[in-house]
Amino acid sequence: MIRINEITDVVSSYIDDPDLDLIQRAYIFSARAHEGQMRLSGEPYLAHPLSVAKLLADMRLDEPTVAAGLLHDTVEDTDTSIDEIADLFGEEVADIVDGVTKISMMDFESKAIAKAENIRKMILAMAEDIRVLMVKLADRLHNMRTLGFQKSYKQLLIAQETMDIYSPLANRLGLYMVKRDLEDLCLFYLKPDVYQDITDGLERQHTIGKEYVDNVIGLLTGILEDNQIEGTIYGRTKHKYSIHKKMQRQGLSLDQVHDIIAFRVIVDSVKDCYSVLGLVHSMWKPVSGKFKDYISIPKANMYQSLHTTVVGPEGERIEIQIRTEEMQQVSEYGVAAHWQYKESGRSDAKTNRDAERFSWLRQIMDWQRELEDPREFMASLRFDLFNDEVYVFTPAGEIKELPDGATPVDFAYSIHTEVGNHCTGAKVNGRMVPLNSVLKNGDTIEVFTDKKRKPSRDWLKFVKTAKARTRIKHYIRTEERTRSIILAKELLEKEGRRMNINVAKAMKDGYFVMLADEFNFGHVDDLLSNIGYSRITPRKVLGRLHAVMNEIEGVEEEIPKQEQHQHETEEDKAKGAAASSIDIEGVDNVLIRFAGCCTPLPGEPIIGYISRGRGVVIHSATCPNIKNLEEERLLNVSWTGGQEESQHPAQIRIRCRNSKGLLAKICAVLTEMDVNIDSGTFKSDLDGSSVLEFTVEVTDLGHLHRSLNKVKTIENVLEATRLS
Ligand code: MN
Repeated sequence: MIRINEITDVVSSYIDDPDLDLIQRAYIFSARAHEGQMRLSGEPYLAHPLSVAKLLADMRLDEPTVAAGLLHDTVEDTDTSIDEIADLFGEEVADIVDGVTKISMMDFESKAIAKAENIRKMILAMAEDIRVLMVKLADRLHNMRTLGFQKSYKQLLIAQETMDIYSPLANRLGLYMVKRDLEDLCLFYLKPDVYQDITDGLERQHTIGKEYVDNVIGLLTGILEDNQIEGTIYGRTKHKYSIHKKMQRQGLSLDQVHDIIAFRVIVDSVKDCYSVLGLVHSMWKPVSGKFKDYISIPKANMYQSLHTTVVGPEGERIEIQIRTEEMQQVSEYGVAAHWQYKESGRSDAKTNRDAERFSWLRQIMDWQRELEDPREFMASLRFDLFNDEVYVFTPAGEIKELPDGATPVDFAYSIHTEVGNHCTGAKVNGRMVPLNSVLKNGDTIEVFTDKKRKPSRDWLKFVKTAKARTRIKHYIRTEERTRSIILAKELLEKEGRRMNINVAKAMKDGYFVMLADEFNFGHVDDLLSNIGYSRITPRKVLGRLHAVMNEIEGVEEEIPKQEQHQHETEEDKAKGAAASSIDIEGVDNVLIRFAGCCTPLPGEPIIGYISRGRGVVIHSATCPNIKNLEEERLLNVSWTGGQEESQHPAQIRIRCRNSKGLLAKICAVLTEMDVNIDSGTFKSDLDGSSVLEFTVEVTDLGHLHRSLNKVKTIENVLEATRLS
């Protein structure tokens, strides 16, 4: 088992005045937390976090990362909480441990359909801080190294996942050492026979090739010495997986793969790199198309080197890589090495001494503009690219990419417009959630639909995707317009009966085309929808229609001021009120309806309710039904006043002593007060009193109260009240 001193010694070798106390405390905490736990190997569990921390130190990472390596399994595998970690070791360490824990909790195995690239993106999005990935990769590398203790089916699953997800991530971060080791371990478990063949073959060739390698190294050393260039030359066998890939790709046997051994020349400066390249090319003929200058054009993960393949002394191909010591560090440790140069302060001195050599590093630093703190520099290397996105699964295991803050409604629309339009509810990770819940990375979403359900206007308050927004708006607009037109026709007919105009016939006769024109609308439907939206009163339109008909047909029709109607349903009454041109503050451009239950009157406190696809329903603020409504759909509204005279239904109850002619008197008073009686019932009690209940039409609350007070003055009327 690795000792903690080995780790702190390594850290001290590359950080001046390191915070070793943090690492020591993390070690003691981890040892206690994992006490009694065993690895499958039979070793104490602590051996694992120690190995991970050692790998992180070898990668030259900072103290919080090494401490996080020691603590990385405490939250997942012991009863330690993340808050405890934060209290004892600070937010920075806690954030890294938390990130690693979240990735570890993801069950990628069950998401077989998900594309590996999407899972990698998801991990990047979840990691936020690049150090989370470093710890996760070190964790995976040690687990792969000890995979032999797992059951064989587990070995295959873990090796495949490593191959699909973690080694490409290591590659992306430029951690070639980690990538190489992971790939060779994967090959060992996934294709044991191939691994064995290559191993045996290399051993055979190694003995044959030793002389050859020494010969080439000797020739290269000669070139450097003749030209007074300081440098070191290595002959390195390519890793087994890359040999396997090459054999596969080019259909070669192992004996046919010539550049199994790559030579690497490490020199002091970029200038020397190009000098060596020129010397090599003058001695051996370069193979065309094989020269790559990654110094002037670094790879995206910051890898730099010169690569060339030449025809060697025995007519064989030799691959030669030429780079500086710094580039070598980057190639092994990736981004970590960049940070390391900044951290140790070595970069500044070298940058001044040889600006050319570090132009690429300065360029990266330019990107990070004016960051003093190396830790800040590290954090700024986060994957901003992925920070604004969240990756979630369909029940089938497919990955959907959504913007940060997206909800099940966004998810539903991302599947199909029809799924979005009819979604009624959603399960996230098997549990029902509100449609406005915010989705998190790795969530599995199941959406429920019902053909009868429609998009709701309040979805617009929480959806994040443009697709959901436009589809909902489009649906509501179409839906409301259709409704407003139907409503307008009903309102016109009702008002028409009152004014003795046959609206249906007038429409058939084409009068409404003329009317639309008079009201400056291009189309009859536009006129109608404006009536439905309460922007124009039916009375105004019919008044105009009446005039037009008179002009054309010369028909003078009597318009009775009041007229008894046949019984109307509650629904009709609600719509009837909506027809009046009422301005309601807080509601704009929306279908307004008045609730049938409380029939609010102008002048009394009201509250709006955003109904599902049927506009805003106005209730009296005291309506007992409000408490049964969904709170988030309630809307503060108030009468703006100054509206045209309009009629609103109200229910009244009059209790009176039975007496002859009383009903007529009551009707007369109501008529005198300009109150229209819509309908009414009359009940006699045995005690000689009667109860009359009327549905009347009044302009506002004041009108109703004045009228009720007047009714109360009638002899034998005991009580006159509004029913609610
Ligand atoms: Mn672990």
